[in-house]
Amino acid sequence: MDFKLSEEDTKFRDELRQFIAKEWNPKDFDAHSMNVWSYDFDNAAARDHAKIFQKKLIDKGYWTMAWPEEYGGENAPISKQLVYSEEMAYHDAPDGEPQRNVAGAIMIHGTDWVKTNFIPGMADNSIDWAQGFSEPNAGTDLANLQTRAVEDGDDFVVTGQKIWSSGSHFSNWYHVMVRTDPNAPKHRGITYLIMQLKDQNGEQMPGITLRPLYDMLGRRRWNEVFMDEVRVPKRQLIGEVNRGWYAAMTTLNFERTGIESASRLIGVLDRFIDSMSKTKFNGISPLADPLVKHQLAEARITLETDRMLAYRVAWMQANGEVPQTEGAISGLRALATAKFVFWPTLAKIIGPYRALLKGEQRAPGNGIYGTNYALSMTTGFGGGGGLALGPNIIAQRGLGLPR
Ligand SMILES: Cc1cc2nc3c(=O)[nH]c(=O)nc-3n(C[C@H](O)[C@H](O)[C@H](O)COP(=O)(O)OP(=O)(O)OC[C@H]3O[C@@H](n4cnc5c(N)ncnc54)[C@H](O)[C@@H]3O)c2cc1C
Repeated sequence: MDFKLSEEDTKFRDELRQFIAKEWNPKDFDAHSMNVWSYDFDNAAARDHAKIFQKKLIDKGYWTMAWPEEYGGENAPISKQLVYSEEMAYHDAPDGEPQRNVAGAIMIHGTDWVKTNFIPGMADNSIDWAQGFSEPNAGTDLANLQTRAVEDGDDFVVTGQKIWSSGSHFSNWYHVMVRTDPNAPKHRGITYLIMQLKDQNGEQMPGITLRPLYDMLGRRRWNEVFMDEVRVPKRQLIGEVNRGWYAAMTTLNFERTGIESASRLIGVLDRFIDSMSKTKFNGISPLADPLVKHQLAEARITLETDRMLAYRVAWMQANGEVPQTEGAISGLRALATAKFVFWPTLAKIIGPYRALLKGEQRAPGNGIYGTNYALSMTTGFGGGGGLALGPNIIAQRGLGLPR
């Protein structure tokens, strides 16, 4: 494996750095906001600010660069996509990736009608997606989902309940897994649909009721979504009837890559060290403490190791291999580092100041470190429970151990 970027990719990275420096002004927003572990998730001003930047990504052609040419992309090689994801993540610039996981599934499995009607809205960023997979009794065991869809003429009629649907109160469309055949084995009777959540005037569609769920810092992040005989046209299908599991797994595979995770945290770490170098706690610089220096060095080394593991995955993909076990190792490491090493290290260094949140005068990093430490408790659950399922994949597929 060659760890060095090609001349072309290096040039592209420099171009991106200049672009980001000119066009992305983080203001006082934490761009983690735009991710599921957000700090500022329910902040309409932050979302608008991100959309303005994303329009620039669209105009420049970066937004759809990875897409196949037939959908208006340029089929960018994996190494170029990696450079792009890493640079955006390092600078905490909101590249909109979380909202676009479903794009890959639609391109691979969507009906022609779906492709024609939804790809343009993803290309110009006018669709705000929410994801309706989890249910009260279907989380890690997703195939246990019970939301029912019954065929009626040209429609499916959907009744049931979803939970943890991130951002569904400001989303107009929902990609949702439903049960169409209750008598088939669990994975076989599932269909993957696109459901309209809001009409053109922003009104909730008939039969849909949202009940807010708040994170531990009191921000509305998710909703329970109740569906009572919601009519969904049959043409709004991703994959085939009763074979939706496989199409939905495509979405989760895109969601789970997290290839840029180490770069994102290296960016946070660099800014943290910069901020600590200008800070004194009780009159003493935290960086004067040898133990702190040691902890920061250790965090950096861990992140660099994670980054190399992510590069291995990209390298294998670029060579046409399917990095199933390697992807699981890399994904698991990224989650475990964030949850057990990175955020706890930063939290320990700032000590009690981590209790100060955004807007409070003495909050280090305007509250980003304390907030993300608190929210890191959920790391590993989102995206389909990678922290629980990663070891299973490594054990069964990587090491060949029995189930
Ligand atoms: C920030 C965030 C955003 C989210 N956004 C969305 C969203 O937009 N849409 C959506 O549909 N869902 C979303 N979710 C829900 C997420 O997909 C679920 O939390 C996840 O699938 C885990 O399910 P659960 O919470 O029901 O936990 P459970 O499945 O009940 O798991 C509970 C515990 O048991 C462990 N466990 C369970 N099964 C196994 C196993 N087989 N092997 C080992 N350990 C196991 C888990 O690790 C966990 O510790 C989000 C979650 C979070 C945290």
